[in-house]
Amino acid sequence: MVRLCVICNKERAIVKRPKTGQQVCRECFYYVFETEIHNTITDNKLFKQGDKVAIAASGGKDSTVLAYVMKLLNQRYQYGLDLFLLSIDEGITGYRDDSLETVKRNQQQYDLPLKIVSYSELYGWSMDQIVKEVGLKNNCTFCGVFRRQALDRGAVILDVDHIVTGHNADDIAETVLMNILRGDIARLPRCTEICTTGDGSIRRSKPFKYTYEKEIVMYAYFKKLDYFSTECIYSPNAYRGHVRTFIKDLESIRPSAIIDIIHSGEAFEIKEGVKLPVQGVCKRCGYMSSNELCKACMLLEGLNRGLPKLGIGKNFK
Ligand code: SF4
Ligand code: ZN
Ligand code: ZN
Repeated sequence: MVRLCVICNKERAIVKRPKTGQQVCRECFYYVFETEIHNTITDNKLFKQGDKVAIAASGGKDSTVLAYVMKLLNQRYQYGLDLFLLSIDEGITGYRDDSLETVKRNQQQYDLPLKIVSYSELYGWSMDQIVKEVGLKNNCTFCGVFRRQALDRGAVILDVDHIVTGHNADDIAETVLMNILRGDIARLPRCTEICTTGDGSIRRSKPFKYTYEKEIVMYAYFKKLDYFSTECIYSPNAYRGHVRTFIKDLESIRPSAIIDIIHSGEAFEIKEGVKLPVQGVCKRCGYMSSNELCKACMLLEGLNRGLPKLGIGKNFK
């Protein structure tokens, strides 16, 4: 017997939604997927008419789907946004050079202006060079800290008000659990915020906060979007990997586990009187920091002085 889509009751159901278990047809899947993101954007008032928004684009599935959906929703609902693609070139041969080719094709396909900023030009070090110095244990610490600042600096160059990133519900659930496992109280409330203000006035938000990774992959697959799916060659990040596997196992038993973890993270409150780092600015580069030097400057100083472990201590989270 042919199973009908539970939404339109007309077409044949060909997809079981990972998020809800509903059996739906292809068109209804597109519609609910896009509408949930639109609702997230409007419920949280992420944008206002005339905003200039940079989409952080890596060529991977999340940011490719984000660029596609942002463009579509901007037209469908007349958000009135000026959209750009912003890519970071970490300088990873055999990985980022190939994925940036995908971003350049996306630029043509979606007809959006693209800006690429590289670690070499910003910091004088590529990730290939950093890995030669620090090995494969702490490389993602350098890469993550440098990327955050690089996106902000790229946004300043593009003169945008807002950066959107492709972090999905699975990523956020992972971060909540990692912060709990590390006892990182200061980061716990921040990691579930859908919109944060970074350096200066540039806002940063996550329209996929409630979007499941499996649905992003399905959407990209059915829509035949052009994305790059190879993993970074320097991707050890064993800790996150274990958390990821744990969440995937939970999801297979209870799909709502992902959203439940996010809601738990949102509900955490810090007891009054608990000391939290005070946010100031880095005295060297002016970027926000709770120490005299921001983490990027600290890491950079270590690299330049031939002491790459300098910025990796606990005091400089
Ligand atoms: Fe950078 Fe690590 Fe991600 Fe590779 S896996 S891009 S080194 S953060
Ligand atoms: Zn349908
Ligand atoms: Zn600094």
